[in-house]
Amino acid sequence: MRTIVAKFGGTSLASAEQFQKVRRIVEADPARRFLVVSAPGKRFPEDIKVTDLLVACYENAIQGNSFEKNLSQVRQRYEEILAGLSLSFPLDQEIDFLRQHLSGESGEPQREYIESRGEYLNARIMADYLGFTFVDPEWCVCFSEDGKLDLPMTRRTLAAALRPLQKAVIAGFYGADTAGNIRTFSRGGSDVTGSLAACAVNPDLYENWTDVPGLLAADPHIVENPRTVEYMSYRELRTLSYMGASVLHTDAVLPASDLGIPINIRNTNDPENPGTMIVRKLPKDQKKYPVIGVAGRKGMSVIQVEKVMVSDGSGFSAIMLDILKKRQLPFEHCLTGIDAITLVIRSDLLAPCKDELFEEIRRELHPDYLGFRENLSMIAILGERDTESCDANIQVLQALTRAGIEISTVNQGAGKLNLLICVPDDKYESAIREIYAYINNSR
Ligand code: ASP
Repeated sequence: MRTIVAKFGGTSLASAEQFQKVRRIVEADPARRFLVVSAPGKRFPEDIKVTDLLVACYENAIQGNSFEKNLSQVRQRYEEILAGLSLSFPLDQEIDFLRQHLSGESGEPQREYIESRGEYLNARIMADYLGFTFVDPEWCVCFSEDGKLDLPMTRRTLAAALRPLQKAVIAGFYGADTAGNIRTFSRGGSDVTGSLAACAVNPDLYENWTDVPGLLAADPHIVENPRTVEYMSYRELRTLSYMGASVLHTDAVLPASDLGIPINIRNTNDPENPGTMIVRKLPKDQKKYPVIGVAGRKGMSVIQVEKVMVSDGSGFSAIMLDILKKRQLPFEHCLTGIDAITLVIRSDLLAPCKDELFEEIRRELHPDYLGFRENLSMIAILGERDTESCDANIQVLQALTRAGIEISTVNQGAGKLNLLICVPDDKYESAIREIYAYINNSR
């Protein structure tokens, strides 16, 4: 039997109408046997997410203020959902339970416990609505006492909880530590639960349903209406999220990508749209375009250390990297040539130790020249390399040069990922537009 694990985000579950859409999606394919759900999110831009209302309850409670207003807003959200679905559910009892906890009747209120109740209630309601089994991650998503996810234990426990079940709804975002306290992931963490559930049942597909059509080929704040990417590799996705695109968090991709489970980003409001498929290796017939997207990040600095014959085997580069390691200063890219090493480093991390670092480089390496440039942006041109993309890279670089954009470093490793370049911060937006124009024209 085919199995799909489907995670639905907050906007997909923000109202009774959204619950109905989810039911239609689930019933359209019987393989959708395991669902992971977030708490109700925003119904309109000024709306407040249930998780934020719960956090406000907690903040008021510990400051000794009344939390009743926020608690009644939480209650209202669920009341509306239940009424719209004509579902009976012990909401009064659940809200009373929350009130008791917030009042400190059973000891100091626990932030993570309160914060997690949005997912808990939503998962119970969804399970009732679909006739699926409710699975409480309190018993199968395991954290250590310091609040870190215990991945091996979670894999085992979650697999033991889910595998015997035919159809189940799992609450996202939380689990419990060894002392039995509820622990949450960082905000947006239901994606992590989704990926963990996928690992536990090893499905044919993991779907992540949200309110966007998929992953976009460029930042929509810079490029008007960028196209959706149809296929992407895990590696490209990691680069995209590293560059700050608000896509799935790396933690939410790694468990599924470790097992090579394909991830499909879909839109609950447009279920006919196939969205973006993220896979380990692109199928041959999907390798249509050598460049699929562009992403970048401002605020980079470049350090250039020059000395005749740095590559002569005397360990010049190793000493340079040791100097960085001693200060725990990460670098984004390192290019070495015959007479120079170039390092790209985040300016905010470099600033506090720049003077000392330069002093040490001069002392240890006696460079012929030590150069420094800041206010640079790093741009990744995404696409898994093959013969055609070499040509594509040249054309991208030519387009930027023609547009008068100075390219200060270029890095293309032997790996499959395409090209990384640096341009001045004030040319960042125009560089992204030029590259996107190339992507768009080349299809
Ligand atoms: N409800 C949580 C949040 O708003 C977790 C999630 O939606 O993934 O961050």
